[in-house]
Amino acid sequence: MSYLLKSATVVTLNPPKVERADLRIAAGSVVEHAAGLNPHEDEEVIDLSGKLVMSGMVCAHTHLYSALARGMPPPPRAPKNFKEILELIWWRLDRALDEETIYWSAMAGAMEAARAGTTCLFDHHASPSRITGSLQIVREAIEKVGLRAVLCYEVTDRGGAKERDEGIEENRGLLNWSRGGAHAPLFRAMVGAHASFTLSDESLDACAGLMHEFDVGLHIHVAEDLCDVEDARATYGSGVVERLAKHDALNKRTVLAHGIHLSDEDIAVGRSAGVWFAHNSRSNMNNQVGYAPVAEFGDRVVLGTDGIGADMFEEARFAFFKSRDSRAGFVGDDWLRVLANNQRLASEAFGTELATLTTGSPADLIVLDYKSPTPLTTENLASHLVFGMNSASVESVMVNGKFVIRDRRHSFGDDVYEPIREAAKVLWAKLDS
Ligand SMILES: [Zn+2]
Repeated sequence: MSYLLKSATVVTLNPPKVERADLRIAAGSVVEHAAGLNPHEDEEVIDLSGKLVMSGMVCAHTHLYSALARGMPPPPRAPKNFKEILELIWWRLDRALDEETIYWSAMAGAMEAARAGTTCLFDHHASPSRITGSLQIVREAIEKVGLRAVLCYEVTDRGGAKERDEGIEENRGLLNWSRGGAHAPLFRAMVGAHASFTLSDESLDACAGLMHEFDVGLHIHVAEDLCDVEDARATYGSGVVERLAKHDALNKRTVLAHGIHLSDEDIAVGRSAGVWFAHNSRSNMNNQVGYAPVAEFGDRVVLGTDGIGADMFEEARFAFFKSRDSRAGFVGDDWLRVLANNQRLASEAFGTELATLTTGSPADLIVLDYKSPTPLTTENLASHLVFGMNSASVESVMVNGKFVIRDRRHSFGDDVYEPIREAAKVLWAKLDS
């Protein structure tokens, strides 16, 4: 299907730009971006006067497997620290996942992402009772919703060598399958790993081997809590990022999530390797693990939700207010830049342009019915982002030229919330079995 999007206000995050333009979409791409385009016979004309159009948002770190956690029964006792949050909440949940609940969880998370205007997800998956084949289940659910994603399986030693090896092979399987986008242009893979404190030297070497074999990045949590830093120091005599560097597990495609307790030396090692630092403002506040030194990460900061939905408007707003409250030296324009970095991260993963709607770029775009009481301009875009724009304005979502959501309706139409809620009940019942 071809479309001519007429009279839209086209918004670009970095460098900020607000302009009136028409966009011609054909064969999945933006084929013309100019004012006053005339319709072709074979295309549908959509009048977007008064509406904003921008490149789809990207979530740089999430866990779709946690999408059915909302409202789940409380743990047997209240966690006292970060390790107990993992042991009593997340590691019970991920171990309870089976084929069905992996699928519905991913579907629920992907639908929420789409509704929030997020068109690409960097997912970090774990389901230790069903490792082999799990990434394809996640992929099928995301494909059904119609989004783009970069997937990986969280390798860890926490379940022993057998599960660790299965996790490595699961990454290898998807890396092989997705290589070059031959089977599915909307999917790519990375090497997933949990965190330094649950990974032996042997496991890290295996992850680094895969990274080099497939020329991809590592997706891993670093220094989310002080326990990760203390473990690396006590057990390996090094910083967390320094340890990854020693194993040759850093490159420009690597995503280090959190980085809250990194030392100056570790940050310098990460920066010189050109990694991306994924800041997860709401998750960090929720887990009470501290505030990441975002201003120290340089120009390689991206934003993740760590499984708290995939609403990047909300994540950016929280990150902005947290940075103000903490006097971090970040202003609204910085968060525009960070959200654009997320799109750059996706652009690099897919080898295409996903940060602007220039001619030739894939048509991954969102339409916002943003009613502002004040003029929106290139100069004040950041102010609108942090004080006004939000995902409730998202009216339509297009990925690779296809409407995923049009006029607030999902393209696949069915009401899937009933089976999703049923799956949640099944999952919750298994938590203590
Ligand atoms: Zn995470």
